[in-house]
Amino acid sequence: MIQPLVISADVTAFYVVRLPFGCDLLEALTAICNERDIRLGRISGIGAVRRANIAYYDQRARQYLSLSIDEPHEIVSLTGNISLKEGAPFVHAHVVLANKNGEAIGGHLNSGTEVFACECVIEAFRGPSLERRYDEQTGLSLWTPSCDK
Ligand code: ZN
Repeated sequence: MIQPLVISADVTAFYVVRLPFGCDLLEALTAICNERDIRLGRISGIGAVRRANIAYYDQRARQYLSLSIDEPHEIVSLTGNISLKEGAPFVHAHVVLANKNGEAIGGHLNSGTEVFACECVIEAFRGPSLERRYDEQTGLSLWTPSCDK
């Protein structure tokens, strides 16, 4: 069996964030990470979106299938992580959204998700760099230790 990739990291800062009305959720989070040089960390949040663009990874076809949601939804849960991709901070986040009937839908967060309101916490870690690189087995960009470059 292949061993899991495990690193040790320390929390260096918590950022408590209210995102502005109308911003792109993924792009706003990525911009904060770039501005603060957050290269490793995690994100959690709640709020609401005016519209959303999420995706499902088709494991057989090895591609993301996009799903546009053109009506307001609650952000029941936003959760994600921060690592490096091509040397720059990269946010990988998933969302669970709920409509007015309380029905949930969720997936991989894409650009094109417009914030109505969003309160989140970003935890910045200090530790070994995790760089995303193409993984043959899954077709995804997954974490690899940067020391094996
Ligand atoms: Zn994902």
